[in-house]
Amino acid sequence: MSASPLHLMNADLHCHSNVSDGTLTPEAVAQRAHGNGVELWALTDHDEVGGQHRARAAAHALGMDYLTGTEISVTFADKTVHIVGLGFDPDDAALVQGLAATRGGRERRARDMAEDLERVGIPNAFEGALRYVGNPDLISRTHFARYMVEIGVCADPHEVFRRYLTEGKPGFVPHRWARLGEAVKWITGAGGVAVVAHPARYDLTPNEEYALFTEFKGHGGVGVEVVTGSHTVAEYQRYADVAREFDLFASRGSDFHDPAESHTDLGTLPDLPGSVTPIWEAVAHRILRA
Ligand code: AMP
Ligand code: MN
Ligand code: MN
Ligand code: MN
Repeated sequence: MSASPLHLMNADLHCHSNVSDGTLTPEAVAQRAHGNGVELWALTDHDEVGGQHRARAAAHALGMDYLTGTEISVTFADKTVHIVGLGFDPDDAALVQGLAATRGGRERRARDMAEDLERVGIPNAFEGALRYVGNPDLISRTHFARYMVEIGVCADPHEVFRRYLTEGKPGFVPHRWARLGEAVKWITGAGGVAVVAHPARYDLTPNEEYALFTEFKGHGGVGVEVVTGSHTVAEYQRYADVAREFDLFASRGSDFHDPAESHTDLGTLPDLPGSVTPIWEAVAHRILRA
């Protein structure tokens, strides 16, 4: 495969609005993406498609092409893995129900997290986090992190995730998300393509990572994020090699959440390496043209 002009398209296929744990509305994310030169955009809120119609309308009003998107939380090898879905029908009943079930345990988990934080002297964290929530169905660790910065427990959200809310630290509550096969099936059943999000973030052993990609492909997954705000430059190369090894399409996305918190802004990542095939070739027929 040689590099084609498609590699140079400014596609940003991973980011969040306040429909999940981002801070901007879908319309404001669209504006920012467009302002930064994004030509093909997907809003990928966690476990939620409630912002999809707004995102598409905002993209088209700006003359930007759009792919529907979501980022599904999955439990694999006792770790949380994220699967991005692109180009699906956002009104597909099985997908909508599957995402609702995946979101379902979040409030209980958040109350348990708050109880655990109380034990280390951080009171009222549930109520505090809730004040940052744009969608009551989607209270996440990010909202807790913002509250803990507000009350001065930590200087920024990254410090919160270093000292709290992660395995072995105060405020961590283990949770069972969707199964890998379910998440891929919801996406592909709704006409979309499934992509392994930011694989370098999971701390998987080589065997676990091999199993993840093998099982993912077995379920019908077709893509992997190569250039993402969560990867280093060395990891772009590593996962470009993984894409070729497993015959997967490659994706590109900032994982933008907030102008101040996110170190990678929308549409500002390097292009995909010429050695891989962009996921937007696999899903070209599902692009909603402006
Ligand atoms: P949840 O889905 O409630 O488990 O929250 C996961 C979210 O927390 C991710 O989507 C990120 O937005 C955020 N997050 C996780 N780890 C970190 C980290 N180390 N630094 C900053 N944000 C993080
Ligand atoms: Mn997030
Ligand atoms: Mn993620
Ligand atoms: Mn994300």
